[in-house]
Amino acid sequence: MKGVIVCVVCPVSCPVEVEWDEHDVLDTDHNQCKLALPYVKSEIFDPRRTVTSSVVVEGGVMPLASVKTDRPIPKALVMQAMSVVLGIRVAAPVRIGDVVARDLLGTGANLVATRDVEAAP
Ligand code: SF4
Repeated sequence: MKGVIVCVVCPVSCPVEVEWDEHDVLDTDHNQCKLALPYVKSEIFDPRRTVTSSVVVEGGVMPLASVKTDRPIPKALVMQAMSVVLGIRVAAPVRIGDVVARDLLGTGANLVATRDVEAAP
């Protein structure tokens, strides 16, 4: 099989021409560095995404706190993960780095806060 996958490892965004079979990547072209190979392998055989969203904060000065997974999860689970995240409610205060959900969908990824939300006075 052949295709073009845009490498997003860095802002150059090389359009990498890729040839692969059912087991491995056979050839790449138009990539400017060796980082493209593990990226395109992952995109073909095990695509993953970092989930970013917000959770409801109870008793805070803001109604929501932004969150993200601390590692990418399988792309096929992203929509299911978003459904879980939509149901999460946390109590203020929230601190950057607080784990608001552990082992999301059994992926090993934790959902962590990416902003502080103080408790309402
Ligand atoms: S192949 Fe290298 S230079 Fe090109 S986008 Fe990927 S990491 Fe950046």
